[in-house]
Amino acid sequence: MNKIISLEDALEGVLFLHSETGTEGGYWAFQDSQFISPNTTRYSCKKCCLYWDKETSPSTPPIVERLFNGLPDYCSPNDHEFKLICKETWDYKGLHILENGDYLTIYHPKKNKTVWSGVIALEQHPLFTENASGFWIHADQIGIERDVWAEYFFKGYHAKLVPAKEHK
Ligand SMILES: [Zn+2]
Repeated sequence: MNKIISLEDALEGVLFLHSETGTEGGYWAFQDSQFISPNTTRYSCKKCCLYWDKETSPSTPPIVERLFNGLPDYCSPNDHEFKLICKETWDYKGLHILENGDYLTIYHPKKNKTVWSGVIALEQHPLFTENASGFWIHADQIGIERDVWAEYFFKGYHAKLVPAKEHK
C-alpha cells in the first residue's frame, strides 16, 4: 500500500554537497532553513586572517602575538580590518544527508517551479572512484544525469524534504 506523501509537513531548505574532514568526499545533503541564521558575530581580519567571534569576546578581538621569520604574523591590535566571514551560520542540527526513501522536491531558484521531485534512491560507489566537477562523491541518484543532479546542489537550489523515517 502506498501512503500519500504530504508536502505540508515537509522541511524547507537548501541543497548542497556536504563534505568536511573525515567524510572522504561529498554527500548529497539538505540544510533545513530553520537552522540557517544570518551571521552577525563571526569576523576575520582582511589583512592577517585573525578570527574574532564577537559572541565569545564582544568588546575586543583576541590578542595574538606570533612571529614568522622574525616578523609579526598578525597585525598589531589597532591595524586589523575585520569583516564578516560569511553571510550565514548553518547549524548542524539542520543538516540532513540524503538517504534512500527520503522524499525530495527541488525548485528552480528563479522560476519557482519544480525541476525534480521523487524518492531518493542512491547508487553507492567505492571511495574515491567517482566525482562531480572534480569533487569526490559517494553516490549517484538513480535515473538522472550526474551533472544535472549535481548542479542542483552546487548552486544551492531550494527544496522540500520529507525524511524517509517520517513517512515510512
Ligand atoms: Zn589583522
